[in-house]
Amino acid sequence: MFSAYRDRNLVRKTAERIAEAANGEPLRIMHVCGTHEWAITHNGLRELLPENVQVVAGPGCPVCVTPGGEIDALCLLAQERGVVITTFGDVLRVPGRKGSLAEAKASGADVRVVYGISDAVRMARQETGREFVHFAIGFETTAPTTAVEVIKGPPGNFSVFTSHKLIPPAMEHLLKSGARIDGFICPGHVSTIIGADAYRGLASRYAKPMAVAGFEPLDIMLAILNIALQRKRGVAEVYNEYARAVRGPGNKVALLAMEKAFQVSDADWRGIGTIRGSGLVLRGECSKYDAAARYGIAAVGGGSMPEGCSCGDVLLGTLRPEECPLFGRGCTPERPVGPCMVSIEGTCAIAFKYSDLRIRSRRP
Ligand code: SF4
Repeated sequence: MFSAYRDRNLVRKTAERIAEAANGEPLRIMHVCGTHEWAITHNGLRELLPENVQVVAGPGCPVCVTPGGEIDALCLLAQERGVVITTFGDVLRVPGRKGSLAEAKASGADVRVVYGISDAVRMARQETGREFVHFAIGFETTAPTTAVEVIKGPPGNFSVFTSHKLIPPAMEHLLKSGARIDGFICPGHVSTIIGADAYRGLASRYAKPMAVAGFEPLDIMLAILNIALQRKRGVAEVYNEYARAVRGPGNKVALLAMEKAFQVSDADWRGIGTIRGSGLVLRGECSKYDAAARYGIAAVGGGSMPEGCSCGDVLLGTLRPEECPLFGRGCTPERPVGPCMVSIEGTCAIAFKYSDLRIRSRRP
């Protein structure tokens, strides 16, 4: 079906309007969403923008920012205590400090890939003689499903190791740190949950224009145009370009479930460090399903990246994947060194998929 949001002429015309609005002044916009990075790279949108307008990827890949120490702790739980670990496929190959869950599985540990937490709960109900821990990662997009399952009351042999993270505190952390960011493209999926209003305080406190965007080429270009126009007018607002899916207050049912199941905590972001108020831990009645408490897992950080890997700089938008000396040489999706090359939402994996290097390496 034809979608105006994919119309190349409209996309090109919008690029011309961006050039007019930016008026030759440097404009550095950050997005914080793996799917946005995929859409921008897949559709060649960076190539359409004028040289003075730069769109960089920030920490928008939840797998990439999951601390290596958490992966180590779950490997140990599976290997030494025979606990079944369930998680999403992307997480398996992410290197911890001492190995990955895929390696633990290869050595005999019971690590299972699930499509969602409800699959893990179902397994726990069926195998009552085993202990199950679900490794719950993701931003506000996946946290509500974790909340709902825990509120429903899973069986006693099931618990959750929560590594959910919140996007607005990470955006604030970057702005506070003085990173050169002139505006944000706010993540579409996360915004369907938290709403466009969730960014208004940030936009006005830091005087940064923001736009919530969908995932089609025109969505993203319109968001960039709006940010450029806001700057030209000297305002810093939140424009909701993705109004067909995102409402101002967000999804009240999902937000209520999150509020009931979780309380906000500080969290370690791999490659970035501790960000205040950016994590979620189980609260109240739900805390009896907290795997960290059940198995005595102390706070596990492990924010550093594997040796030689520049994922920390990639996640902060200060280095393009192609600028990492290992990109496409020592580090490929088949043999990843850092987490940004593992996940399908990782900036390095996306860049590799569409890079000349990959095309050259596949030629006979
Ligand atoms: S190319 Fe590999 S080593 Fe370099 S930053 Fe990306 S994931 Fe890390």
